[in-house]
Amino acid sequence: MPPNRKISWKTRALWALPNLSMLLFLLSVGALLVYMQRNESESGRERLLEDLLWQEQALRHRVQIHQNFLADLGRDFAKSNLSEVGFYAAATSKVDDAPEVVAVALSDEYGDSRWSYPAGSLDPIRNMPAAIEPIQRSARIGMAGTTPVFDLPGVGPCIAVAQPSLSRKESLGAFVAIISLKNLLRRQVPWWIAERYQIGVIDIEGRTVAETFEQRTPEGALSHDIAFDPPGYGLRLRATSYRTSSSVLQNLLYLVLAGVSMLMVWSVWALRRHMRVRLEAEQALQRETSMRRAMENSMVSGMCAIDLDGRIIYVNRAFCEMVGWPERDLLNRTAPMPFWPADAVAQCQAVHDAILAGENPYSGYALPYRRRNGVRFDVRLYSAPLIDDYGNHTGWMASLNDITELKIEREALKAAHERFLAVLNGLDAEVAVTNCQTGELLLSNQPYAEAFQLGSPDGPLCALPFHRMSDAGGGEVFDPISRRWYQVRRRQSTWVDGHRVWLDFASDITERKLAAERERQQAEKLQQSARLISMGEMASSLAHELNQPLAAISSYSTGCTNLLKGGNLPVDALAEALEKIGKQARRAGEIVRGIREFVQRREPRRTTCSLDELVDTVLPLLQAEFRKHGVKLIDRRTPMLPILHADRVMLEQVILNLTKNAIEAMADTPPGSREVTIETGRENGQLIITVADRGCGIEPDQLERLFLPFYTTKQEGMGMGLNICRSIVEYHHGRLWVEPNPGGGSRFRVSLPLNKEMAHAA
Ligand code: ADP
Repeated sequence: MPPNRKISWKTRALWALPNLSMLLFLLSVGALLVYMQRNESESGRERLLEDLLWQEQALRHRVQIHQNFLADLGRDFAKSNLSEVGFYAAATSKVDDAPEVVAVALSDEYGDSRWSYPAGSLDPIRNMPAAIEPIQRSARIGMAGTTPVFDLPGVGPCIAVAQPSLSRKESLGAFVAIISLKNLLRRQVPWWIAERYQIGVIDIEGRTVAETFEQRTPEGALSHDIAFDPPGYGLRLRATSYRTSSSVLQNLLYLVLAGVSMLMVWSVWALRRHMRVRLEAEQALQRETSMRRAMENSMVSGMCAIDLDGRIIYVNRAFCEMVGWPERDLLNRTAPMPFWPADAVAQCQAVHDAILAGENPYSGYALPYRRRNGVRFDVRLYSAPLIDDYGNHTGWMASLNDITELKIEREALKAAHERFLAVLNGLDAEVAVTNCQTGELLLSNQPYAEAFQLGSPDGPLCALPFHRMSDAGGGEVFDPISRRWYQVRRRQSTWVDGHRVWLDFASDITERKLAAERERQQAEKLQQSARLISMGEMASSLAHELNQPLAAISSYSTGCTNLLKGGNLPVDALAEALEKIGKQARRAGEIVRGIREFVQRREPRRTTCSLDELVDTVLPLLQAEFRKHGVKLIDRRTPMLPILHADRVMLEQVILNLTKNAIEAMADTPPGSREVTIETGRENGQLIITVADRGCGIEPDQLERLFLPFYTTKQEGMGMGLNICRSIVEYHHGRLWVEPNPGGGSRFRVSLPLNKEMAHAA
């Protein structure tokens, strides 16, 4: 039970009542016990007093009998009717009849026995003045008397009674009977007194002289004493009860009462505990009920229970709100229900019967229902058996959800999804979503499925090498199965389920790639053609150039032959001539090799090369041109420039073209001023080659047009030279431009990146 529970004053009063009654009961029992105790003790005391008085009287009477006996003896003795023999006979008879009488004697005035039975019975008391003196007094003054208690050896405490002998003839004397107090008590206390009390004789100082049985009396036992006279002398007779004031019965009663009280206390405690448990259970039940009610009321699902006959036995608030009928109108209704639409009664009845037959499909039932205002709505209904506390099946509980909104939303969602799919599938790109960690393909569009044949398990399954790309970005990817090229863009994103995914967009670029390749091949062909054309143009010059070494060889060999024929050819001169022949032959060979390499059809191939080598290869081919046009070559090359990684033939073609154009541009330049400067150098991490002339120069508005294909100002020109040169330079990630040459003419400049990575990438 929670500590802040509130207990009503009624409950408190109810709880206090058993406590109060128990307290009253205990007080009553206590008072009763005290009363009984007092009553018992009072009545005990009264009875004891009565019994004691009776006993004292009985004892006194007994002593009196003995005194009368002695008085009879005295009277007989006075009348001289008593002989000694008669005395003994009477004494013997007395002692035998009354065991408490231990001796009977006739004493003289001095206390000496004249006759005594047993003999000399007064002798032991002769030396006891207190005991003998009353006997003497009785004998002398003729009065009956009793002695104080004395101890007779072998007998114990005794008293003696004396009666004067009253004889005139005889000397003074008295008849004495010695009475044993113990025997007196033992014989004269009846059983009904002896079992209740201990009867004792106590002397004036309170000492017990004799008692019925030497048995200890309990502490606090009831006791009373009264004067015991005769014998007198302050002797008192005392009765002490063997039982204390509380008897066994009383103790038993106390015990029973205590037991009953304890039982009552326990029962009250148990009752309280039971009440507390019950109260707690009630409160828990109440809480549970409130909670359940709150839950039922807060539920958006309608709840409706029917019994085994199909009668509505329970509906919750949500159900009432759903159908629009109040609870009282729905309870105890049987099929057909008011919320069944008229046109769907058969359907609803079928489901109703199925539920009653115990059919509870996992997915429930979808049904049309009708509100009170006639509006139709759709519900999904789930049913479950209704089991009571005893495990009995009492009916069916159905939970209903209004799925109208859900249906609309689902349809809207479906439409949105279809739109999304339509857009996705209509894209001219393959789209895929893959799990970053597992590589699982989560979503793909139609082009993707078609491109990679995901639908056919036997076909070449290609998940595109997307998954091999771990980083966002993308690039061009070749699919070896479909043998197509894809431009892939990839980025990381978070999927609807929170996982990190790759979004891949792939576009088929195979056609573009093929076109580029075709273009490249055409350019290649074009370059080849251009090189052939250049060679064709230079054919006469080259022939002339070749002619020179051949003519030299011819003249050297003719000279040698003539000298040999003359027989005066010194060996040194012959060796020199042969060396010159060889040199000229090598020169001719170089020219031929240069032409052959230059015009050879070949694939682009990068090798390491230096600018110097390139220029050195080109210059011999142009030597004849220089000479033919009377052009001076100014060589301003910078030595020890870094190595290039490039296609040397392509770059040679550029240098050759530019130099050839420079020579041709100076047709109108006065012969003395015709000069071509070839300069190499390094600027801002770039290698620079400059070919400058002193020709006609170029109009500023023509600066860019020169590089357009088929632009030429020459009669037999093709106009492709500069265009090819720019393509080659750009292929090497460089730049080709033209600017006016300070001092006249123009200069063409080529910059090539020195950056090794660029060179490699290119
Ligand atoms: P072609 O040499 O067949 O005409 P090019 O593409 O090599 O084709 O040159 C195109 C044009 O650029 C030439 O016709 C010429 O007018 C101009 N040109 C080329 N080089 C120079 C130069 N060094 N000085 C002036 N004009 C030039």
